[in-house]
Amino acid sequence: MGLIVQKFGGSSVANTERIQNVARIVTDTYAKGNNVIVVVSAQGDTTDDFIEKAAEVNENPSKREMDVLLSAGEQISMSLLAMAIEKLGFPVKSLTGWQAGFLTDSNYGMARIRRINNERIENELGKKNIVIVAGFQGLNRYDDITTLGRGGSDTSAVALAAAFHADLCQIYTDVDGVDTADPRLVKNARKLDEISYDEMLELATLGAQVLHNRSVEMAKKYGINLEVVSSLERKPGTWVKEVTDVEKMLIKGVARDNDVARISIIGLEDKPGIAFRIFSILAAKKINVDIILQSIGRDGTKDISFTVSRSHKDAAVAVLEEIKKSLGAHDIVCEDNISKISVVGAGMQSNPGVASKMFEALTDANINIQMISTSEIKISVLIDIADSERAVVAIHDAFMVDYIK
Ligand code: ADP
Ligand code: ASP
Ligand code: MG
Repeated sequence: MGLIVQKFGGSSVANTERIQNVARIVTDTYAKGNNVIVVVSAQGDTTDDFIEKAAEVNENPSKREMDVLLSAGEQISMSLLAMAIEKLGFPVKSLTGWQAGFLTDSNYGMARIRRINNERIENELGKKNIVIVAGFQGLNRYDDITTLGRGGSDTSAVALAAAFHADLCQIYTDVDGVDTADPRLVKNARKLDEISYDEMLELATLGAQVLHNRSVEMAKKYGINLEVVSSLERKPGTWVKEVTDVEKMLIKGVARDNDVARISIIGLEDKPGIAFRIFSILAAKKINVDIILQSIGRDGTKDISFTVSRSHKDAAVAVLEEIKKSLGAHDIVCEDNISKISVVGAGMQSNPGVASKMFEALTDANINIQMISTSEIKISVLIDIADSERAVVAIHDAFMVDYIK
């Protein structure tokens, strides 16, 4: 008996049958004597459909109005799930993010949770209600609706688990847990029984959509007992926790991120302060830079290339065009037909040869590497997007040969 937070993603509540299925999972948990807080996402492709609808009306709507629109999807799910639970004869209350006390900053479309006012949920739990909360949304200090970024309902769930000192936070989804690669891309991907917070954070940041990266960050910070589990089959999922048995597997997973654009500044003056100027001006515009590569200076000039998310591409090129002359640059080139493929695993810290194994797999598949970046527990390469699926499969096969059935 305890307090359990259960989050159900869009595919888990996509239609009436799925909502009834979720209602059964939730009421079974409640019937065992637990307090239950449920977080729901918008049904199926609702959020994508809203984005398309908005574009039909205005190709450049304000972020504030986008958040008003997008937050509506979760409200539909929460009420339908509450009705399905009522039908099963259990006490239930659905709450929007703001009714549930979610206060965020004002970064519309990518807001961060500042605080949760516990009062209302505590009150409802005290009355023995099952509480359903709309994920992905909150209110800023001007009482305006904000959303937490795509996939943000995971973060709503983990934040509630932290705020209410939950015994367990379960993320129910449409796959069996966290796998060694996206099972939609790699047929023989295998479910992991456990993964460390740090490895999961890397995988989530590098494109594994199964958890929102901020949810993992928060789970690590508050030591949340986190399980990723299937809503469609009742079987054990993946535990995300502080430490795992790193000896068992060298690499925990392969991830792909196609939301990448590369910008190259050609023919820069080869003198101190150039990189500082470029990256400080990008930072001032809140443009996140990922992999950076600088060529060796030759004949007094050098090139700098870096990657950004595609949504930041135009803004980055625009600010660089403004300072191009003063940097002495010849040209600014932008490409977005690229993909970032990464391998993640704490095991690589103590085992040499991971990079060479990854590069060998790419060589055997005749795939050219354009840029490389490494950290303690990950190696990423940039490649042509046309090769990305083949690359994930080839790398996965090379590392997982000993583990896959
Ligand atoms: P939800 O709607 O439940 O939030 P998401 O679509 O956000 O679900 O995340 C689940 C999806 O993440 C899966 O359907 C799968 O295609 C994708 N995915 C990518 N990488 C992985 C991985 N390593 N393990 C499991 N799923 C992954
Ligand atoms: N509905 C939102 C999205 O599609 C939030 C979520 O699913 O977590 O991104
Ligand atoms: Mg999700």
